[in-house]
Amino acid sequence: MTGTVLVTGGSGYIAGFVIRRLVETGWTVRATIRSLAREPEVRAWLGVDDARLSFVAADLTDDAGWAAAMAGCSHVAHLASPLPAGAPAHEDELIVPARDGALRALRFAADAGVGRVVMTSSVAAIAYGHGGDRTRFTEADWTVVDGPGVYAYPKSKTIAERAARDWLAQAGGGPELVTVNPSAVLGPVLGPDFSASIEAVKKLLAGDLPGLPDLGFGIVDVRDVADLHVRCLTEPGIAGERFIASGPFLKLADIAAVLRDEMGEAARRVPKMKLPDMLVRMAARFDPVLSQVVGELGHVRETPADHARARLGWVPRPHRETIVDTARSLIERGIVAA
Ligand code: NAP
Repeated sequence: MTGTVLVTGGSGYIAGFVIRRLVETGWTVRATIRSLAREPEVRAWLGVDDARLSFVAADLTDDAGWAAAMAGCSHVAHLASPLPAGAPAHEDELIVPARDGALRALRFAADAGVGRVVMTSSVAAIAYGHGGDRTRFTEADWTVVDGPGVYAYPKSKTIAERAARDWLAQAGGGPELVTVNPSAVLGPVLGPDFSASIEAVKKLLAGDLPGLPDLGFGIVDVRDVADLHVRCLTEPGIAGERFIASGPFLKLADIAAVLRDEMGEAARRVPKMKLPDMLVRMAARFDPVLSQVVGELGHVRETPADHARARLGWVPRPHRETIVDTARSLIERGIVAA
């Protein structure tokens, strides 16, 4: 199957790999970016055949550009959503564009007769706010937005995915919707504008952390996430489904150990000492980024991708390869000193 796919948020980290994979597999891609002034820069990172890629300006918070973006597209991969490295001044800075952008993408897709929308949701819409001792979550679970420790980003992803599903249910027609729900996405970076999810590896390698807080996350490779998006765009009979995209849950100490094992001298600044929870909690009082995730100390959230493996034949690569390729690309691109 080939045709034209609209990829929203074409300047984004995961979107870059989705666009590459689509073009490699014969699709033509139209991508939205907030400003066409960025088109030359984004084209340069992507390095795909110019004739198979075009850009339209569109923002999640405004109707302008969306009708033109959708015209003639049979499929949409909706990736645009705010993912800042820091904490927002107010949670609505994330929730409103995430929710309204998803609804806008669906509404204009429905008007244009698009057949399927694959929306990039997150395990943040699955595994948070449940309380208690649960450590394992599946596609059947939904983050409890007013549950304990749920900060702005998981709220934004949960509210956006719910809103998209509710809108389609009450519209009684429109495109099929499938969601890809990745854990923390790592892997090679294409340019200097990479996702906030790369920050942990960057900070470890650059020696920006005084020690290792007892924090962790599921990790998944950006190339495998892109591959899953393409499978979700084309596989028949999966309307309405959610697909977790995740490898193992790793603590920062596990990631640090892989870096030290595999990166030799380049890993010399990676910390070895664990940071006591008490120290992290104290530091979080003065650090808004840390204060968002301090509730995560000691937590384990396994989000196995059994459904994607069984239903779509998705096979993610080993996590060591992902961590090493992330580190190598940060060094090769001069983002972290060798
Ligand atoms: P990213 O590199 O920060 O990409 C986010 C994209 O969204 C960028 O293209 C950004 O445009 C766009 N965007 C943000 N606000 C916008 C607005 N108001 N209007 C139009 N576009 C807007 O992050 P990413 O990691 O590739 O994330 C892509 C998707 O995957 C997001 O939906 C994210 O929630 C989801 N996800 C990511 C991870 C992860 O670990 N990275 C895990 C699970 C799910 P600008 O370049 O103009 O800012």
